[in-house]
Amino acid sequence: MSTQPTSASTNRPVRTRIAPSPTGFPHVGTAYIALFNLAFAKSNGGEFILRIEDTDQSRSTEQSEQMILDALRWVGLDWAEGPDVGGPHAPYRQSERADIYKQHAQQLLDADHAFRCFCTSEELDTMRKEQMARGETPRYDGSCAHLPAAESEKMASDGKPHVIRMRVPTTGTCRVEDMLRGTVEIPWEQVDMQVLLKTDGLPTYHLANVVDDHLMEISHVMRGEEWLNSAPKHQLLYEYFGWEMPVLCHMPLLRNPDKSKLSKRKNPTSITYYRDAGVLPEALLNYLGRMGYSMPDEAEKFTLDEMIASFDIHRVSLGGPIFDIEKLNWLNAEWLRELTPEQLKNKILDWANDSDKLTAMAAAIQPRIELLSDAINWGGFYFQNLPDISSDDFTHKTLTPEQVMEMLQLAIWSLETLPEWTEENIYATIKGLSAALDIKMRDFIAPFFIAIAGKSSSTPVMNSMWIIGADMTLIRLRHAVDVLGGLGKKKLKKLEKTAADLPDFLADIDE
Ligand code: GLU
Repeated sequence: MSTQPTSASTNRPVRTRIAPSPTGFPHVGTAYIALFNLAFAKSNGGEFILRIEDTDQSRSTEQSEQMILDALRWVGLDWAEGPDVGGPHAPYRQSERADIYKQHAQQLLDADHAFRCFCTSEELDTMRKEQMARGETPRYDGSCAHLPAAESEKMASDGKPHVIRMRVPTTGTCRVEDMLRGTVEIPWEQVDMQVLLKTDGLPTYHLANVVDDHLMEISHVMRGEEWLNSAPKHQLLYEYFGWEMPVLCHMPLLRNPDKSKLSKRKNPTSITYYRDAGVLPEALLNYLGRMGYSMPDEAEKFTLDEMIASFDIHRVSLGGPIFDIEKLNWLNAEWLRELTPEQLKNKILDWANDSDKLTAMAAAIQPRIELLSDAINWGGFYFQNLPDISSDDFTHKTLTPEQVMEMLQLAIWSLETLPEWTEENIYATIKGLSAALDIKMRDFIAPFFIAIAGKSSSTPVMNSMWIIGADMTLIRLRHAVDVLGGLGKKKLKKLEKTAADLPDFLADIDE
């Protein structure tokens, strides 16, 4: 089978999109990709839209979706169509489009571009293990690819669970055109017979993404380079459906200063963290606009409108752009210095005037204050970035610094996977950990006061964690581990084993 490379240009009206999966915090990488999609669309007189890709039902949450929309809007990236604003291609949330994907999967089945696969997860597991033992890359071996149609129909109508997989050539090379990379060649043998529709009848990312980009008339797909390997499957799906494929553009990934992929282990990655720490949205956008990109006049400080006015996608360079907080802070300071005192005052008031946070703080300090001015002493830490602490602050009568670091690290791992940031979930996690490690809650909680509030007595600390939010909590806990000297690789490995054996702390409150 041959696939025609699509040309890296199109005559269609320009429509770009950001398609976040609501499975966690709003990531700066999402804002970065959204920014370039928006700049490209606007500079070509086109539209930028937002679609929520929540096909992974077990990991998607409404809270995450809301945070992503809020964060992108806060940073100043606005979409013309989306789940919250509607539009001609609604719904813009994939969980509300299940029938559309089913219909399209059926179309592929009917044309024999896809087949039903009845393999059980045990069979797939054995297949994978055997392939790995032979030193091969695990992939679906095609067992069900040649089931006679009548047999496949019969098994399906008998109710035998199955998925739908796409047919993929096993030999030859797929050529994909990328705006920034030119022709990219990927051997077909590296491409799996991708599941398109899962046993529960819901689509995988690949099917939903292609169907929606087509139906939503997306002309250019600009996304992170981690998706480049999916491009052959997508290109083949466009060909199977007989649709024009959008022009592809895979953007370089943001990196930590040590060049590794930007990760929350090394750098705060959540937009909400930068907002809460007091970065101006225009400065964050400006900084993201400099990731792998330079303005024609090499300006360091520029607005979104200035970026759009001179935007040229070919000025993106492929070397991994480094996301460096120190540089971001420097740029933010440049923006701050330019304001009049009056403007700066307004920015500070806007930043602090987070009604929900202030109300929650008021409730926490109310039993403790005598004068309104006491609110500064009791409540200052809710608004701080990182508290000013040293390892001595963690001195405890029974716990060693080593133990404290381990407790904090285990808490970080458990808290960062919470499906929802609620006080109840935080409490269940911390209490569960103290029981699992057999450390009295009173002792267990002490270092958390230092890490979060910067002092040993403060408002109830789990409530404080809830108020300052997941990102700020995790960053302060990581900072505390660093202040205590950090855990070496070996110790972390050992601790990972302890973490793997921990019970599900939310089990009792889930039902
Ligand atoms: N839902 C995918 C993500 O979370 C979108 C990838 C794409 O843009 O195709 O990144």
